[in-house]
Amino acid sequence: MNLYLIKYGEITLKGKNRRFFENKLLSNLRSRVGPYGGEVEFYQGRIFVRSEDDRIIPILQDTFGLVEICPAIKLPLDMDVLRRTAAEEMKKLVGEGPATFKVEARRSNKSFELDSPAINHDIGGYILHHVPNVSVDVHQPQIRLEIEVREQFYMYVETFPALGGIPYGTAGKSVVLMSGGIDSPVAAFQMARRGVEIVPLHFHAMPFTSEMALDKVRQLVHRLTYYTDWLYFYHINLSEAQITIREHCDERYYTILQRRLMTRLATKLADQKHALSLTTGENLAQVASQTMEGIVCTNDATHLPVFRPLISFDKDDIVRRAKQIETFETSILPYEDCCTIFLPSKVATRPKLADVLAEEAKLDMDALVEQTWKTIVREKIEA
Ligand code: ATP
Ligand code: MG
Repeated sequence: MNLYLIKYGEITLKGKNRRFFENKLLSNLRSRVGPYGGEVEFYQGRIFVRSEDDRIIPILQDTFGLVEICPAIKLPLDMDVLRRTAAEEMKKLVGEGPATFKVEARRSNKSFELDSPAINHDIGGYILHHVPNVSVDVHQPQIRLEIEVREQFYMYVETFPALGGIPYGTAGKSVVLMSGGIDSPVAAFQMARRGVEIVPLHFHAMPFTSEMALDKVRQLVHRLTYYTDWLYFYHINLSEAQITIREHCDERYYTILQRRLMTRLATKLADQKHALSLTTGENLAQVASQTMEGIVCTNDATHLPVFRPLISFDKDDIVRRAKQIETFETSILPYEDCCTIFLPSKVATRPKLADVLAEEAKLDMDALVEQTWKTIVREKIEA
């Protein structure tokens, strides 16, 4: 059975809420490693995972809230055993060498006779004598041999970095407006990584958009469940509303009016699901809805805060993240989006709110929301 000592980050800072965060992290971990026969244990402020399946390492690395995964060896509190095992492990890792190393002991079991500096000195000295071609570098060692002194010794020399963030489901809920594009899945990921429970909502325009276009978004949501275990995916048919907008309004305002309608519908869903915010993949750019003026106009259509986690990202950064979380290849599939179906020939890129409201007054917006809302569909997507 392999043993992994798990280091988790910021939640140690959360004071009274610490228990809540830890419990959530533990239950998230249990459901993620369960399928791999992993067992999760928590004691004395440390998480330990046991499993025989190596595939568990990337799963742990991709769990929000974790910082490092350390494959560990558990030993009895016997310095002689520790010395020999430490030297063996170093030999395995160093091979012919040369390599620099440092021993870092932490004694939380104060009844153990040696303190941390004494253990560092003892084990470091033993390694220097028994492993060829190694030297100590306390500032920037290539290898850190860490020892935790608890009811037993836990020793580890290798660590795998994890995603960081905070445990999923500890920071409230947000309705994420999900197109089939590159940005919105990344925005959803960024929020989920900060602990926010996400409720993906997509607008399609069937029959003008295809079943394949909807399925592409479904696939993106499915990919996100790798991080969240499961998600309710909502979709709404905007086609009738788009036709109504087209019949009544100046084409320069189609995009922004449509965006305000989406925002209203997303708010309705959020209110029903007790989500306290909306999230979009918007990023300051020179398209109508993504100028500051455009953002003012969409924000005006909701009482909820709208989070835009990518607002300051460069496209390259977004693409890099999309590749990392494996949504990129799906996002670039060439299916039409509802926003591009009725593309106007002229667009107001810096719309004034007063003008937009005047244009919107030509519609019965409440009725449009009610009628469009009737098309909502919920699907449960599981990892
Ligand atoms: P993305 O790559 O996420 O599509 P984008 O850069 O193409 O973003 P837009 O198409 O203007 O920009 O969309 C901006 C944001 O509006 C999206 O990130 C998403 O949050 C929301 N959005 C756009 N179209 C839809 C849609 N069909 N359904 C749900 N949300 C949408
Ligand atoms: Mg888009």
